[in-house]
Amino acid sequence: PDASIRMRTVDLSTTTSEERLKLLKRPVLKSDEMIAKVKPIVDSVRIRGDAALLELTAKFDKAQLDTPLLLPPFYPLSDSQQLDPDVKEALDVAYANIYKFHAAQTDTKPLVVETMPGVTCTRFARPIARVGLYVPGGTAILPSTALMLGVPAQVAGCEQVVVATPPRADGSISPEVLYVAHLVGAHAVLRAGGAQAVAALAYGTETVPKVDKIFGPGNQWVTAAKMLVQNDTDALVSIDMPAGPSEVLVIADELCNPAFVAADLLSQAEHGIDSQVVLVGASLPDSILAKVEEEVDKQARALSRVDIVRESVSRSLIVKAGSADAAVEFSNEYAPEHLILHLRGASGWVSHVKNAGSVFVGPYTPESCGDYASGTNHTLPTNGYARQFSGVNTQSFQKHITSQEITIDGLEKLGPIVATLADCEGLQAHANAVRVRLGI
Ligand code: NAD
Repeated sequence: PDASIRMRTVDLSTTTSEERLKLLKRPVLKSDEMIAKVKPIVDSVRIRGDAALLELTAKFDKAQLDTPLLLPPFYPLSDSQQLDPDVKEALDVAYANIYKFHAAQTDTKPLVVETMPGVTCTRFARPIARVGLYVPGGTAILPSTALMLGVPAQVAGCEQVVVATPPRADGSISPEVLYVAHLVGAHAVLRAGGAQAVAALAYGTETVPKVDKIFGPGNQWVTAAKMLVQNDTDALVSIDMPAGPSEVLVIADELCNPAFVAADLLSQAEHGIDSQVVLVGASLPDSILAKVEEEVDKQARALSRVDIVRESVSRSLIVKAGSADAAVEFSNEYAPEHLILHLRGASGWVSHVKNAGSVFVGPYTPESCGDYASGTNHTLPTNGYARQFSGVNTQSFQKHITSQEITIDGLEKLGPIVATLADCEGLQAHANAVRVRLGI
């Protein structure tokens, strides 16, 4: 009785520039409304600390806790918690790959440049001391998110790493997340979720240490709370990036395998009803497009999350482009979180990519590998923010400090230049700081 599970199709060759702009838009995030809703929650934790945090955890997560914080060791697990040996091994391999790729990103060597004789400028990295990692836990367990945030924090050498995740009704945390907390050397696990967890991390409570930066995805309560605290100068906290529903854009040509393309589209569609799924055909013949559509319908029906997929697919888009160049151009304008290239000579097209969170190249590179275990990070910019944001990486957990040292000879050459510029700006004291040294 069910109607087939189909995407909407548009043809770029008959699309006006106004229509094209609409195709690039994501659903509007009602951030002002949500920020107003989370404010009372955030305020109550800011003002009443642990008491409010525990009340809200009882209310939203149905867990009665004596204290919100768990301290190491997180592993071995208690007798009542079991970790499937296959899952443990998979987490170990994923951890090793993610560690390897993120360790290679560490900025350990200072940059030293002599800009003029006797004028040496330096830049060096330091870890952000205290970080909070939000691991969503309302509807699913997400040890992969704990890995993607915990590993770069560990590699960067952050002194205080707090993993926050909503507890289950009995107050426990999933064994998978606890095991990852152990692997990444987390210093505490905060058993709280939603806006209250973000508030506790931003302001600190009697038991929860305040952090300097909050990372991680979450539902609209989490996202709005992150936006709220980042704008509060009392909290003095930053966040990783603005978050929106997850996205994939697949570019396929006549050489693609329709079953692979459909599987990749559906792996994004199952995230949630607001998932953004786009297939761009690079002069893809209608006969092959029809096969992709058949596969989407067939594979979707076999999924346990078919109800979510039915909704997200019905809002998804097939864009017909006249050539591979036109397809890549559209993708660059869209700036997808994930870009999958099912194209002839896929690796050759990577150099044409201007905007994307992460790129998956060729028929044997499903996005799932990057989501879990190949080594790259899965916390990526959505909503078109791939134009100006990078995904989470090791340097997201570091900041850079510059320094300089000038010799007397160097100051003799540079000082008069600086004095001239200071005079030009009318800042006499600036000029004096040079003149007093040079006696000019
Ligand atoms: P969550 O941990 O984000 O949220 C659970 C918390 O939401 C609860 O602890 C509760 O405090 C709060 N909450 C729920 N209903 C509330 C209400 N009515 N009022 C106040 N607070 C309320 O878990 P979730 O809800 O399962 O959401 C997970 C989210 O994370 C999804 O939106 C998913 O798309 C996203 N996600 C994104 C990525 C990514 O990398 N982009 C990865 C994993 C998950």
